Amino acid sequence: MTGRRGGLGRGLGALIPAATEMVPGGLDGDGVPIPRAVNGAVFREIPLDEITPNPRQPRTAFDEDALEELAASLRGRFGVDVRLSTEATPQLVRELAPDGVVVATGALPSRSGFSSVNPLVDTLPGVDQDNVLTSWDVLEGERPVGRRVVVLDDDGTRAVAGVCEVLLDRGSEVELVSRWNALFPTTLTTLDMAHLYSRLFGKGLAYRLNAWAGAIEGDRVVVFNLYTGAAETIEDVDTVVLAAGAKANDGLYLALKGEVGNVHRFGDCVAPRKLDHAVYEGYIAGRELWSADERYIYEGELERWEEATVGSPM
Ligand SMILES: Cc1cc2nc3c(=O)[nH]c(=O)nc-3n(C[C@H](O)[C@H](O)[C@H](O)COP(=O)(O)OP(=O)(O)OC[C@H]3O[C@@H](n4cnc5c(N)ncnc54)[C@H](O)[C@@H]3O)c2cc1C
Repeated sequence: MTGRRGGLGRGLGALIPAATEMVPGGLDGDGVPIPRAVNGAVFREIPLDEITPNPRQPRTAFDEDALEELAASLRGRFGVDVRLSTEATPQLVRELAPDGVVVATGALPSRSGFSSVNPLVDTLPGVDQDNVLTSWDVLEGERPVGRRVVVLDDDGTRAVAGVCEVLLDRGSEVELVSRWNALFPTTLTTLDMAHLYSRLFGKGLAYRLNAWAGAIEGDRVVVFNLYTGAAETIEDVDTVVLAAGAKANDGLYLALKGEVGNVHRFGDCVAPRKLDHAVYEGYIAGRELWSADERYIYEGELERWEEATVGSPM
């Protein structure tokens, strides 16, 4: 059979061009031939001013057809019983009476307002008020956000920058209180800091650094400088947004552990980290369902596995 294979199993070649060819007659501005990937992607160095932000980020719409295509691929090619939009509860898992369970329920945003810069305070006073949201609440858009917003940033990432931009675009005045000594410091190494700063300053972001909150009291947020301890109060705050880490969503795993045999978990429901951890641990968890010895991966094994199951890259 020829033609494009859908869903899982297209191989890395679908993402990373395997080979390049020269565009017939194509020269760049310096007279250098332009290479073109054989699958249609093109690698070229281009001037910065030709790069424009993706207007659809942060992503707000998800392609249901693509999800269904992936599910159909898993069902058809591997015989997996995929159930979309279904919450896995301990009861449902028990009813399925499985030989093994792998839990990958991810993480949830922390709602405690805890920051390691204030380690003796487990729960920030006032976080249980109705006007205190998490950054995920903002993105989901299901809870009202007021005009004057204070964002408490323990993360220092572009994810928080994204939340600020969403708020600014929706018409809020945003003041960010960051525990860090630079605004979104993790974006320095990924080289998007300057780009984010110009967008956010252009939209009116206000901020204070080296600071954290001591308490939320109605429409007031008491903040203190990390180095001097000097406290100040931000008044007339309609909404406080916590961007203060995530917690493992481990309820399902803990409910099943000890009750159902052969239970494994991987990814953020162990501890919130990165995608590569989830992918690697998911692979290990799958192998461990066969036996604990199977968790070891020998040199070249992954490549042999891909060749046997997925085939050569397109
Ligand atoms: C804003 C943000 C930016 C990030 N950026 C990066 C990045 O640039 N690079 C990187 O490597 N990592 C990044 N990460 C981290 C990365 O997204 C996670 O490490 C990764 O998604 C974890 O994968 P997972 O499968 O463990 O959990 P998830 O991807 O969170 O998947 C868990 C899924 O399980 C579902 N679920 C939960 N409970 C149930 C239940 N009971 N029944 C059914 N379904 C359930 C959830 O709805 C979710 O869809 C980022 C995370 C965030 C929040």
